[in-house]
Amino acid sequence: MFFRKRLYSLPLILLSFFLISGCGAIEKATTSTPTVAPTQTAKGSLLQVHFIDVGQADSVLVIAPNGQTMLVDGGNRDDGAVVVNYLKSQGVQDLTAIVATHPHEDHIGGLDTIIHSFPPKQIYMPNAISTTKTFDDFITAVNASGAQKIRAKAGVELDVLGISGQFLAPISDQYEELNNYSAVLKITFGKISFLLTGDAEDVSEAEMLKIGHDLEASVLKVGHHGSTSSTTNEFLKAVSPKYSVITVGLDNDYGHPTQVTLNKLANAGVPVYRTDQDGTIVATSDGETVEFISSRLSSTPKPVQPVPAQATDSVMISSIDLRGEVVTLMNRSDQTVNLRGWKLVSEIGNQTFIFPADTTMPGGGVLKVVSGINAHAANNVLLWTDLNIWNNQGDPGALYNAQGQLISQK
Ligand SMILES: [Zn+2]
Repeated sequence: MFFRKRLYSLPLILLSFFLISGCGAIEKATTSTPTVAPTQTAKGSLLQVHFIDVGQADSVLVIAPNGQTMLVDGGNRDDGAVVVNYLKSQGVQDLTAIVATHPHEDHIGGLDTIIHSFPPKQIYMPNAISTTKTFDDFITAVNASGAQKIRAKAGVELDVLGISGQFLAPISDQYEELNNYSAVLKITFGKISFLLTGDAEDVSEAEMLKIGHDLEASVLKVGHHGSTSSTTNEFLKAVSPKYSVITVGLDNDYGHPTQVTLNKLANAGVPVYRTDQDGTIVATSDGETVEFISSRLSSTPKPVQPVPAQATDSVMISSIDLRGEVVTLMNRSDQTVNLRGWKLVSEIGNQTFIFPADTTMPGGGVLKVVSGINAHAANNVLLWTDLNIWNNQGDPGALYNAQGQLISQK
C-alpha cells in the first residue's frame, strides 16, 4: 500500500516574456535573525561565501576580494528584512548583482525588499515565471530598480568584476518541474570553486552531466535542501566536493534533508554543514584553501564516520513484505544490539520509523516492524503506524543506526 506526501503538485502554467511556468512554493518562512559576528568585508585576497540562515529557504551572499558583492536568492517573504539586516551587519553598501535562481517563494520571496534596500546593477534569472503574488512583487521590484536583466542559462558568464562565475544550468528551454529551471552557478576563485545549485533536481543534474560541464567543485550547496529529488550518485561523483552545505529549516515539513541524501554524502566522505544546525555559515577562501565559520559555536565540520563493519555485519533487513506491510529485521551476530535511536526509512515516501528507546535484539533474534490498518504490536513485533507505508510498486527500505549511518538496505 502506498502513502506519500507530495511536495510540489501545483500545475505549471505557460507564460510569456522571460518565460515559462510557475508554481507557488509552500516552504515555511523563518523569522530567525542570523548573527554571525561581522566578518570584515572581504578585502585583499579573500573571497567570502555566506550561506545565510533563512530557515527552509536559500540566500547566499558572495563578497569578492575587491569588495564587489552578489546575492544568490533572498529567502522567503519574511526573510527580506532579515537578509537586509544581515547585509548591513556585514558592511555591505551595495549589491553588484542578484541571482534569482528560480521563482519559488523560498528563493525569491525576500528579494523585493532586498532590491528596494540594495538596488543591484544586474539581476540574473532563468526564463521561468510564476503566477504567484510573490513573483509579481519580485518582478515589479526588478523593473522599478532599473537593473539590467540577464537571462541565466548554461554558458552565461557572470559579469561581476572580481567574481569569476559561469552558469551551468538551466540547459533546456522547458521543464515540467519549476525547480529544474534553477540557475546553477559555479564560482571559481583560484583553485577553489563553489557550486550553487538552487533547487535543481535529477533532470537538470543529468543534463549537466550529459553536456560535459566541468562540475568538480570544492564546495557544493546541496540541491533542493537535501531532497531525494537531487544529488544523484552520478552528479555527486562528478562534483566530488570537499565540503557540502545544506540550506534547510529546523523541523521543516518536507523531511529535508533526507537520510538518503545525507547517507550519499557520508558514504562519499563529504563533511556537511547545515544551516538548521550551524546557523549562518561563512566560507572564506584565499584561492588555495577554504575555511568555514558559523554563527553557532557547535559547528565544526562534521567528521564523517564510515559505517562500522561490525554493525553492518549484525542487524539487517532480511525482508520487506510491501503488501503485507511487514519489515523483518534479523540480528546475525551473537551479541545483543540496542536499537535505541535507530531509524527505518521507506525511501519512496521518505517516511521514518524511530525505534523506541528500549528496543533490543538478542543475538540471532528477529524483529518485525508492521504498519497498516490491521497491524498490531506483539512480542517482537513493533507497530509503526496504522497508515500504509510501503509502495507496492517497489519501495526500498533502509535501516540507519543512531549515528545516522546506513546499516542495511533492502
Ligand atoms: Zn527551495
